[in-house]
Order: sequence, then structure tokens, then C-alpha cells
Amino acid sequence: MNTKAVQKICYGMYVISSRKGDKFNGQIANTLFQITSDPPTVAVSINKQNLTHEYIMESKVFTASIVAKEAPMSLIGHFGFKSGREMEKFKDVKYKTGAVTGAPIVLDSTIGFLECEVLSSTDVGTHTIFIGKVVDCDVFSDAEPMTYAYYHQVKGGKSPKTAPTYVKEEKAEGAAPSGKYACRVCGYIYDPANGDPDSGIAAGTKFEELPDTWVCPVCGAPKSEFEKVD
Ligand code: FE
Repeated sequence: MNTKAVQKICYGMYVISSRKGDKFNGQIANTLFQITSDPPTVAVSINKQNLTHEYIMESKVFTASIVAKEAPMSLIGHFGFKSGREMEKFKDVKYKTGAVTGAPIVLDSTIGFLECEVLSSTDVGTHTIFIGKVVDCDVFSDAEPMTYAYYHQVKGGKSPKTAPTYVKEEKAEGAAPSGKYACRVCGYIYDPANGDPDSGIAAGTKFEELPDTWVCPVCGAPKSEFEKVD
């Protein structure tokens, strides 16, 4: 079966966070959607390997912080490509604690949030779908939310292998060299056509011309961790 049609499904970008006692963790997820309006409920699909999954299972609460369109790649790298088992993700992030759930809400580069209490969960193999009742929510900016398509097409973003919508990259045969370089650590693609505006690198800058101090905008890996894509 060709799964191309599945890749045409549209999503947003969210930091899904939860707590275990007074410990916090959060991760990027695109698979969040509203189910009913009365009462307002949402569903989110979370990989069982992720620490946030463990926290939601335990506390039965989660928050969804809505990522702004103009959020830097570093925010997505921080929450999406690093594990809370190896670092304290909320240490250097501006956040507040949800008034109802006590779970953290990211305030950096986000436009609003939902606080949810888990009503039920469904085991779907690699992931669990959590259905959450929205118990509090707010919008703190009129800025646009980031879509999953924008993250991939404009920001050069990739999905970790644990994402429900992960797609294995295949190179087009006979295509002209694009000058693109891929990060071996996180899969981010440096595309000279886009440059890296978050780090002040203008569109049209070749990978070879990047300063030696430049690092992967997603995971922070040095230039030496990049390899030519084609
Ligand atoms: Fe990287």
C-alpha cells in the first residue's frame, strides 16, 4: 500500500506536557485534535517509549501548549528531539503551572494552551491515544499557530522515529544535487535555499559557507555531524 495519502493529513504543532508528582516533562506532538465541543474534549497520540507517556499515565493530566508559527527550531529541537530522561526540559524554559492540572504550560514561542484531564485512553500498539477533557484554556497571542506542513516545508523540520507520523526519507533518483546537508543526530535538513534565519544565516548561503560556530538549529550538533544528502 502506498501511504502517500496519509501524509496529506493536516496537523498543528504542540508541546504536550505532564507531571509526575512535582517532576515536569514535555514533548512535541502534532497529533492533537478536538473531538467534541460540549464538553470540549481533545485526543492526542503519544509514543509509549516517551517519558511524557509515563507521566500522563501516572497523573492522568496533560497540557497542550500551541506552538507559534514563528517559533525557533531550537524550541522544537528542545522538546521534540531530546529526552526528559537525560535532561530537565523545563529548566531553562519560560513556563507557568496549570491552575487546574498542575502540569506545566510553555510560555516561550507559544500562542495559547489547553489543560486537560484524561477521560480515557486507548492502546494502539506503539502509541496510546489519550482523550482529555479541556478543564482550562487560554490564548495569549493573536499570532498564527504553526502547522505541521509549515514545520516540514518551510522550516526544514523532520520527525523523530517515535512520531506517529514518521516517514522514512527516500532520495529521488536522478535528481540534481540540491546542496542540502542532513544532521546525523536529529535528521534536520540544511537547505541553502532557505538558509537558517533563526541563526541569522541568509537564504542562498551554501553549507560550506556556514561559519564553523554554526550548529544544528534543532539539536545543537556541530557542522561536523552533517552529511551531504545527494
Ligand atoms: Fe540536529
